[in-house]
Amino acid sequence: MYTSIETLYDIYRKGAKVSTDTRQITDGCIFFALKGDKFDGNQYAAEALQKGAAYAVVDDPTVANGDRFLLFEDGLTALQDLARHHRKTLDIPVVALTGSNGKTTTKELIAKVLSMKFNTYATRGNLNNHIGVPLTVLSIDPAKHEMAVIEMGANHQQEIALLSSIAQPTHGLITNIGKAHLEGFGGVSGIIKGKGELFDYLSKKKGTVFVNSTQDVIMDMVSKRRAFGEIVFYCSENSPINPTLIEENPNVVFSNGGKTVTTHLPGRYNFDNICAALAVGKHFGVEDADAYEAVATYEPDNNRSQIVKKGTNTVIMDAYNANPSSMAAAVANFGRMEAARKILILGDMFELGDAAPEEHLALGKQIAGEKFDVVILAGKLMQHALPALPKAYYFPDKFSLHNWIMDNPQENTHFLIKGSRGMSLETVLGVMPG
Ligand code: ATP
Ligand code: MG
Repeated sequence: MYTSIETLYDIYRKGAKVSTDTRQITDGCIFFALKGDKFDGNQYAAEALQKGAAYAVVDDPTVANGDRFLLFEDGLTALQDLARHHRKTLDIPVVALTGSNGKTTTKELIAKVLSMKFNTYATRGNLNNHIGVPLTVLSIDPAKHEMAVIEMGANHQQEIALLSSIAQPTHGLITNIGKAHLEGFGGVSGIIKGKGELFDYLSKKKGTVFVNSTQDVIMDMVSKRRAFGEIVFYCSENSPINPTLIEENPNVVFSNGGKTVTTHLPGRYNFDNICAALAVGKHFGVEDADAYEAVATYEPDNNRSQIVKKGTNTVIMDAYNANPSSMAAAVANFGRMEAARKILILGDMFELGDAAPEEHLALGKQIAGEKFDVVILAGKLMQHALPALPKAYYFPDKFSLHNWIMDNPQENTHFLIKGSRGMSLETVLGVMPG
């Protein structure tokens, strides 16, 4: 017999934590058996109970032996419904973020700024999908948290709509619209539609949106939906807080009201992320000085826009991920950087489908218009950039790239290292002499 969501919620409400991974079972938790491409969580339900889970939510009747197995039609839907149920009981502002690039960075900055005043729960790491968002919502503790910041990722239509129905945001922000997950969304217009589902939700609920007024596409998306409760602009003179960018490389430095703030983030695009966080902080009444301290002390991790010193070299380590728009922003930024010697090391951009050859070639053309001392390209797709870059070094695989790096030690050089996650170009740092 199927279990009702009310029964499941009753168990959760009494303090049971939620887990989807048998390696992370805590005593008394509810284990959700989810299905992936290569696994079926139902097969691990008994093990989860043995390891200390109080209950296992399963959707395969053949494994449900006893009353500690809670049978649902679909395990993932049960998880999402439970999160939706929990969210309905929370009377706190929830700020949701989506966009093509910069979601995690902006989310972390916003969370850090809001934490100066409120007990804030934010998405851990990059848990931003149909499983991560419900897990995030279920981690919000009504006894503790006064505010939540939730990252929403998507690679196809209706995903942000689903995540919005779970997180039920009161506030929202789309960082930007760029060419990411082109394959799943079906082109840029598909991305605008897909990401716009957050604005659809917020305009229906009279929510507040934070809008980067330098992003024409987002301004257009806002103007097409008229029912928001409030629209707060950032990167604009109409913003409640509008800092001036003083330096963008290697670290963003800005000033406002006579105060100069140095951050650990590189590049103009990160200044946009910072302005977003300051605008959200201001909106919720965080003191300016506290907000500045929060953004000044934020240090990115996970090879996401990190500034790393290696011997006499400075590396902008951006190997966390890449797509045409974040590549374009990073390359343009590196092009503007004033440095004695600059080396660009770029790896393949994945998930582009049929657009892969033309997007890699377009990147090659952009690079050709900038001045770098050495350009190094790695990966099978990068060969499409080569016609624009006859002098570039090209390595089809990382092994030969590593060899080149080891054989050619550099000094007093600035590097930008960026590629899709699957390229894991951070390994280059490991073999770099110095
Ligand atoms: P994911 O889709 O993996 O969740 P994300 O949207 O969370 O990515 P981040 O992890 O914050 O993005 O940043 C990834 C990279 O995107 C950064 O290292 C940087 O190169 C680029 N990036 C960050 N912010 C911006 C921005 N505002 N505009 C363009 N590119 C950006
Ligand atoms: Mg992210």
